[in-house]
Amino acid sequence: MSSPLHPRTAVITGITGQDGSYLAELLVAKGYEVHGLTRRVSSGATARIDHLLADPDEGRPGLVLHEGDLTDSSRLVSLLSTLAPDEIYHLGGQSDVAASFTQPEATADATGLGTIRLLEAVRMIDLDVRVFHAASAQMFGPTAPPQHEDSPFHPRSPHALAKVTGYWATRAAREVYGTHAVNGILFNHESPRRAGTFVTRRIARAAAGVALGQRRTVTLGNLDAVRDWGFAPEYVEGMWAMLQADEPADLVLATGTAYTVEDFARLCFAHVGLDWTRHVRFDERLVRPAEVDRLVGDPSKAARELGWRPRTFVPELARIMVDAELSALEGPVSGLTSLAG
Ligand code: NDP
Repeated sequence: MSSPLHPRTAVITGITGQDGSYLAELLVAKGYEVHGLTRRVSSGATARIDHLLADPDEGRPGLVLHEGDLTDSSRLVSLLSTLAPDEIYHLGGQSDVAASFTQPEATADATGLGTIRLLEAVRMIDLDVRVFHAASAQMFGPTAPPQHEDSPFHPRSPHALAKVTGYWATRAAREVYGTHAVNGILFNHESPRRAGTFVTRRIARAAAGVALGQRRTVTLGNLDAVRDWGFAPEYVEGMWAMLQADEPADLVLATGTAYTVEDFARLCFAHVGLDWTRHVRFDERLVRPAEVDRLVGDPSKAARELGWRPRTFVPELARIMVDAELSALEGPVSGLTSLAG
């Protein structure tokens, strides 16, 4: 039970990423003491969360970062036993599907084994904690939409395979050891904080850049892929709600709507008064070895059990992302304007 003197404590893996940053904001606003796992990297990668870091002069609970890697089980054990959190949000891992084809072992290690290591650490120190695992719609592969909690998995990338490993490790921890652990089966969710390699961010940035006369084109792969894109801040609300439920359950978080990459490009360019066909080039090198053609989720169970419902759909999402890129390209503090959006 939390109180002003004893706030609830949460650990977030993947805190420097898109979702980690929104979730940290949400939990800090709810009065949690938030601890984030960050990798030791030479360039530093905390731009999305710098505004949240605890101010030692204010002495208030905020966000504290701890170096550690999901490939290092001893660090996970020592960190979790020191912090003894009430909730763990496990979002860390190699999240880029395309990159997983060139780094299959590293993806399996960080994303698949990383989840096993985290759950084993919880078990070894007998931690009384609730664990959220960020599983992925990619696990369904070619399974026909709408995909729901009982749809069969058919992983078609090293990333999806690693997520299936994490999914079953989470279920096994719950069913075998009684850990309060749940899988959020997350369909795509985007924002101005999406990593720059992802297609939605690339398109939004290109539309803004062309509108400002800074570039002429963007090169894309499969324009026909169908995705269920939502807005990331709403998905982290769903993650939090999942851990507040008394009974642990795996749930799909999705919008239930279907758009193609081409639709997203059309909407982004139209928002700045441009015709996408004049600015999008196709490059077959960007087509994945095995494309997952149609991912459209059925979020009705999350609506029933949690009251969670998405509020932002693709046309508005496209506008939000293009507007953020326009401010970033025009504004005096380019990177920060975009990341704070
Ligand atoms: P990001 O790629 O933005 O963030 C991934 C995070 O994982 C980063 O903080 C990254 O750290 C960290 N990370 C990567 N490898 C390691 C490692 N070995 N040890 C510790 N941390 C590591 O992903 P998102 O925020 O978009 O997604 C959050 C989670 O949700 C991911 O697991 C993703 O696969 C999953 N998901 C997301 C979807 C989406 O549409 N966004 C859809 C389905 C699932 P660093 O900054 O150092 O690279």
